[in-house]
Amino acid sequence: MPFRKAPFRIAMLGPQGSGKGTQGDLLAAAFGIPIISTGELFRQQAATRTLLGEQIASYINQGKLVPDEITNTLVEQRLAAADCVAGFIIDGFPRTMGQAMVAEQLFTFTQVVLIHIDDHEALRRISGRLRCANCGAGYNATARPPKKAGVCDHCSGPLSPRRDDMENVALQRRLNTYREQSTPILEYYQQQGSLITIDGKQPIEAVQRDIRAAIDKKSL
Ligand code: AMP
Repeated sequence: MPFRKAPFRIAMLGPQGSGKGTQGDLLAAAFGIPIISTGELFRQQAATRTLLGEQIASYINQGKLVPDEITNTLVEQRLAAADCVAGFIIDGFPRTMGQAMVAEQLFTFTQVVLIHIDDHEALRRISGRLRCANCGAGYNATARPPKKAGVCDHCSGPLSPRRDDMENVALQRRLNTYREQSTPILEYYQQQGSLITIDGKQPIEAVQRDIRAAIDKKSL
């Protein structure tokens, strides 16, 4: 598994709406390495209408985490692809200690980036999220709008609210789940010395600048 020794093995963590996907995209472009979003991997699987796809869709739509066995298998398969040899960024993984422990057996993260925002800010942001039905690109009606309303900048596909974002109960449940599950994970990476905590309430450019500075410092 060549990805074990890739120079950058970065995890992006943070609550829904923290901007970890946006920041991960910018970082991936700057370093020339792929960004792997577990949420996006799952949404692609869910769209296949296979048995596995339908199981995954049901977890996502209920605001529940996909079980560790499914998650770990999909992540391991994706990391084994050739484009991960030079490094990778994972957005939204690990979300449970079970996932963190399996990841640990495969490789260690060089940096774990936590983008911190509180629940109030997360809810305000999530309610404005849009996704391209065609290529999966993400937007936000206020913070990161497309150039033309309702149309994807990249492929001109139609933009719509993410289905799991439309249900408020599921939304608060996902945030609660995130807080419960992430506390021990963050403590674990803090003890390991790989955790970088960034203030996610700043503008996009300032968050990226802080992440890059912290990564440079850790790589010295
Ligand atoms: P996200 O796009 O990161 O908000 O993820 C959307 C949904 O995908 C989550 O609410 C979960 O149902 C599922 N999901 C994403 N990443 C994981 C993960 N690491 N473990 C379990 N479920 C996940």
